[in-house]
Amino acid sequence: MNNSADLTDILSLSPGELAREIAVLSERKFRAKQIFDWLHAKKIRDFGEISNISKQLRGELREKFCIKSLNIQKRLVSTADNTVKYLYALDGGDGVETVFMSRDRGNGLCVSTQVGCRMGCVFCASGQSGFKRDLVPSEMLLQLYETVRDGKTVDSLVLMGMGEPLDNFGNVIRFLEILKTGHGMGLRRVSLSTCGLVDKIDELARLKPGLTLSVSLHAANDADRSALMPINRRFGLDALLNSCAGYFKATGRRISYEYALIDGVNDGGENAAELARLLKRLPPGSCHVNLIPVNETAGPYKAPRPEKIRLFAGRLAKENINATVRRTLGADINAACGQLRRIWDFKK
Ligand code: SAH
Repeated sequence: MNNSADLTDILSLSPGELAREIAVLSERKFRAKQIFDWLHAKKIRDFGEISNISKQLRGELREKFCIKSLNIQKRLVSTADNTVKYLYALDGGDGVETVFMSRDRGNGLCVSTQVGCRMGCVFCASGQSGFKRDLVPSEMLLQLYETVRDGKTVDSLVLMGMGEPLDNFGNVIRFLEILKTGHGMGLRRVSLSTCGLVDKIDELARLKPGLTLSVSLHAANDADRSALMPINRRFGLDALLNSCAGYFKATGRRISYEYALIDGVNDGGENAAELARLLKRLPPGSCHVNLIPVNETAGPYKAPRPEKIRLFAGRLAKENINATVRRTLGADINAACGQLRRIWDFKK
């Protein structure tokens, strides 16, 4: 048996990369496509299951590659709404969280893209214990595959778990390509959320992946936003809005703007007015606002009272800004937005 550390992680290879690798082993071009299909559509766990290739080729695959898997280290089920939070164990002793959300309009899966996070948003638990490492494509795919093996049907996917997806750009793009061509999930059913890495949003606009882009705004002026989100000191609101307008122009896809409402911080009438003014600078019909009552983490931030949230949403509506209040799922198991972390207290 080979030491798996020496073997290539075959689930992380894009169709093109796999084709190049297989070309060395077999002259038949269609073999790569067949193997890709066994791996990602049929989700085999062992090369022995590939029944339509020779025993010799199966042996060669085993010599060179490994098929990774993730173990469920912990599974928490919300008593409030059937949300399930999985802790998956990764190589090297790390863990990563994935959240399954069952909703009337279909089931969603919230996938993590990094272990920890570098962005340091003050209200988010994911960055509080720092950044550990990027996830590779197989580790993102397997969050979906293992959840499916656990008996769940997943209709849509959000890259809103731990980590900043655009800070792990290459791996996320390869993951999306494999998800689409291998697992068969159309990217219209995928949302990617970013804290606003402007250069990467521009790069994404050039690639036009066809997914829904969500941009975490949380404040409508630079001073407030920089205090909440350190990334704003690198890319201010002017640059961010320009890049978002460019994304809409290039892709024709409406962007979702996330705004976590924090009591006494960004939830006043003047904040709503400022947000409306800011968004009116964008092309008409290009935006939708998602209001998220902030979920509690270790910090001092609290959600406003429901009445204040309604007032804020009403003010945006009056200014003709399209806004919805996001239902919080899984708060009793710390599975809501901003509550995912890389270290678990197993006593809880
Ligand atoms: N790094 C990406 C994905 C993060 S999580 C991003 O920043 O967009 C998805 C959303 O949850 C983001 O909008 C994030 O700002 C928000 N979020 C983080 N902490 C939160 C909290 N405590 N309460 C509510 N939303 C939070």
